[in-house]
Amino acid sequence: MAQKITPNSNLFNLNPSTIVVYSTVWCPDCKRAKKFFGEHRVQYENIDIEEHSEGVAFVEGLNKGMRIIPTIVFPDGEILAEPSNAKLAEKLGLQTKANREYYDVIIIGGGPAGLTAALYLAREGMDTLVIEKAGLGGQAGITQILDNFPGFDEGITGADFAERLGRQARKFGVELLQAQEVTEIEEDGQYHIVHTSSGNHYHSKAVLLTSGARYRRMEVPGEEELIGINVHFCATCDGAFYKGKNVLVVGGGNSGFEEGLFLTKFATQVDILVNSPEPKASKILQDKVAEKENMKVLLNHNIMELRGKNNLESVLAVDKNTGENKTLNYDGVFVFIGLTPNNDLLNGQVEFDPWGFVKTEHMMTSIPGIFAAGDVRAGSTKQAASAAGEGASAALAIREYLKTIGG
Ligand SMILES: Cc1cc2nc3c(=O)[nH]c(=O)nc-3n(C[C@H](O)[C@H](O)[C@H](O)COP(=O)(O)OP(=O)(O)OC[C@H]3O[C@@H](n4cnc5c(N)ncnc54)[C@H](O)[C@@H]3O)c2cc1C
Repeated sequence: MAQKITPNSNLFNLNPSTIVVYSTVWCPDCKRAKKFFGEHRVQYENIDIEEHSEGVAFVEGLNKGMRIIPTIVFPDGEILAEPSNAKLAEKLGLQTKANREYYDVIIIGGGPAGLTAALYLAREGMDTLVIEKAGLGGQAGITQILDNFPGFDEGITGADFAERLGRQARKFGVELLQAQEVTEIEEDGQYHIVHTSSGNHYHSKAVLLTSGARYRRMEVPGEEELIGINVHFCATCDGAFYKGKNVLVVGGGNSGFEEGLFLTKFATQVDILVNSPEPKASKILQDKVAEKENMKVLLNHNIMELRGKNNLESVLAVDKNTGENKTLNYDGVFVFIGLTPNNDLLNGQVEFDPWGFVKTEHMMTSIPGIFAAGDVRAGSTKQAASAAGEGASAALAIREYLKTIGG
């Protein structure tokens, strides 16, 4: 039976309903567990036990004198020491294994495109399985607020939007797996076999790829080591760690400016570094940033390196106008420099455009029975409303395809 304690929240005066992760900055399993919570948009408090001697004693007390990290204490008092992602998924009550082996349609990715397609298909009586590797809602789910999704005249938070989409899909009978990454699609006669990283596989007559896109990295020395420590790609998830601190946002597009504005809720100073002479963000966003006293925009600068081993010590940048090298001091860096398609699954199997987005004709890829929609699709507009629209179009195209194969 899992170990339980009286919830420990009073140790650091934390909210009793908070999950508390006792970790250190250098521990890979701590990073993994925090990434898992971040991806599933589960809020937690992090206690770096090397900064709090009471934390070390507390962790040792829970683990028979052993300093096991991460040690995670849940609001119900249950303690998980160094849990796997599967164990965390189980604790969060996520469905990780499908009920059946055969489906009419399997959808890879639970963002707006995938969940819209799923609810359309299931509503028409098709057995539909969605496999999602992280939290539902995709990129839209981690957005602070969706202001331009039709029907939500006052805007809707990404978390609420994701929750509603998931609920609506389930209402029509869609089966939704989470914390399950699809690693391969194999062809087997009339069926496609979809394999997951946990070793399970499922068959379907049609597959819809709605795996979206992910944040592009700066690819500079120091970035990889500091990801999840002081380098972040999601202001909603990690902004609160920077209360009263100074942060640098990298990226001059709408995401960089929007997320920078959001970060001013927490950080004392938020600067935006743009690698071109002019930002690409909309005029409205640029005006909003200009009005903020605690925001500054550094135009035509490139980041060269992030320094610091377990903690960001400085950012090395170059001013492209003057060639001057600068050492900038920030507590954290948030990167919003564009998207890379999540196409690894089909690499070499279907046709891509020059940027790696999946080419389609009437929503079908170059393999009969495998469809693509949303941000991963070549020519898509990278917007939540159009991703949902593409999901609906793909569902209708799949319905027609299934008729042709007698499905
Ligand atoms: C910070 C930010 C702010 C935004 N703001 C707005 C906005 O205000 N308005 C707007 O219209 N749009 C906005 N967008 C864009 C919008 O969110 C996207 O266009 C939309 O979410 C794309 O939907 P999608 O379903 O195609 O892909 P995604 O939302 O990317 O979803 C794809 C899903 O597939 C999953 N996945 C990937 N690979 C696998 C795999 N191998 N196995 C299982 N699952 C997998 C991913 O985890 C993800 O959940 C914003 C995006 C970002 C990042």
